Amino acid sequence: MNQEELFKNIISHSKEYGFVFQSSEIYDGLSAVYDYGQMGVELKKNLRDFWWKSMVQMHQNIVGLDTAIFMHPTTWKASGHVDAFNDPLIDNKDSKKRYRADVLIEDHMSKIIAKADKEVEKAKARFGETFDETLYRQTNPRVLEYLGKASAIENRFKAALEANNLEEVRQIIIDCEIVCPISGTKNWTEVRQFNLMFSTSMGSVTEDAGTIYLRPETAQGIFVNFLNVQKTGRMKIPFGIAQTGKAFRNEIVARQFIFRMREFEQMEMQFFVRPGTEMEWYNYWKDMRMKWHQALGFGDKKHRFHDHLKLAHYANAAADIEFDFPFGFKELEGIHSRTDFDLKKHEEFSGKKLQYFDSELNQSYVPYVVETSIGLDRLFLAVMSEAYKEETLEDGSSRVVLAIPFPLAPVKVAILPLVNKDGLAEKSEEIVNLLKYDFNVATEAKDAIGKRYRRNDAIGTPYCVTVDYETMENNTVTLRNRDTMAQERIKIEDLRQILEKSLSMTTLLEKC
Ligand code: ATP
Repeated sequence: MNQEELFKNIISHSKEYGFVFQSSEIYDGLSAVYDYGQMGVELKKNLRDFWWKSMVQMHQNIVGLDTAIFMHPTTWKASGHVDAFNDPLIDNKDSKKRYRADVLIEDHMSKIIAKADKEVEKAKARFGETFDETLYRQTNPRVLEYLGKASAIENRFKAALEANNLEEVRQIIIDCEIVCPISGTKNWTEVRQFNLMFSTSMGSVTEDAGTIYLRPETAQGIFVNFLNVQKTGRMKIPFGIAQTGKAFRNEIVARQFIFRMREFEQMEMQFFVRPGTEMEWYNYWKDMRMKWHQALGFGDKKHRFHDHLKLAHYANAAADIEFDFPFGFKELEGIHSRTDFDLKKHEEFSGKKLQYFDSELNQSYVPYVVETSIGLDRLFLAVMSEAYKEETLEDGSSRVVLAIPFPLAPVKVAILPLVNKDGLAEKSEEIVNLLKYDFNVATEAKDAIGKRYRRNDAIGTPYCVTVDYETMENNTVTLRNRDTMAQERIKIEDLRQILEKSLSMTTLLEKC
């Protein structure tokens, strides 16, 4: 199965088992807007909890916040979003398809770098154990040619972005001979800037109503409440404010399922620090966030850092944590050193002081901010992509299993009576009642037991508990592990304790 097929299968599996539906599907859907079904909502909630606990519960100097989606319109003037929250777009005149010019160029560079990597892989296979990858990368003429080519494009592109030279961005696309994936032609329009904010009006009388925006990021709700939280929570710098919630962007190119949506959920944390210490904290949070991702146990090859080519208007350093999605490495989380840009701008536009009195220095200042910002939907997609497995079993049969980390699985335990008679269903109900206070449990009696195991594998249920005739005699059940499919006989009274060990979120939090 190639990556494209894998991605298609993940999308159809997500629908078939109630994880993700297209929004308003009966009306043929709404582009790049999705709904989470009965399984998806549980997985999403568990991922959000994992993030929240690791941020708020595990840090005594980070607190939570929940601000409104609508904010005073001046917020977005101050933050720079009205003037600068743009993407460069370009249209292909033959296919009439619209693209982000930066994405076209970045994809082109990735393809060139992939060619260099392929040369290295080939050499590795040829030379075996004695292969010195670093030396090969520094000396092999072909590898050097590819890397040189990519870096020349990168430098030219960076300079064009910094100068906001859209004509040059277009020229790079032409010179690199980038073609439209649909029409295959190089018939491009000019590059234009496109503002990504959605707007609406507030109040019942349209004439009087002011234009307001649907927030394109949750961060500004944190900035405007900075002093409220600091004062009422008696917070001392360095401290953080964390928030999860919906954000809205009118994305030009909205493809790739829940990777790029027009309505999505962010999990952001703004960490307020003393001016001059921001790079230290920036590096600290880069490390912390990478560790958090790796706690999910997908291996150390699935994530990588990518430093930003062009810094956003508010940042003095920025890196992405990219994930190896079925369509390649793409941004999953951003870590930004946002300086004092936002707080200073809000001071300027509101006329209110947003300063902190540092009693150790005996001085007031506008704090600097390091931000970690992750898309919950992208994290959801990363977990689904990694968890989805089609396996051939020893007996020649096959199964689809969602190997979601146990503490994050939507349903934790399925209680399955072997047959739906002779009191087995009632006994199952008793076990449900025993476990339901601690775990999300489900029970089902229909179909052969093998079929029910498969259904639970497909939604990622870590454990199936089977209630059979022996249960009625000695109060024992079989406990089946999703991944190994091994079954063991255990006492009902021991169930809770055994499950707690591997299903508790603590097992993940201890690794972050
Ligand atoms: P991209 O370059 O992919 O457009 P971005 O750099 O604009 O993303 P940020 O503004 O840094 O993204 O937002 C922080 C996080 O929010 C991203 O790392 C991503 O996980 C998530 N995110 C941003 N835009 C979307 C979207 N349209 N759909 C889903 N998640 C998104």
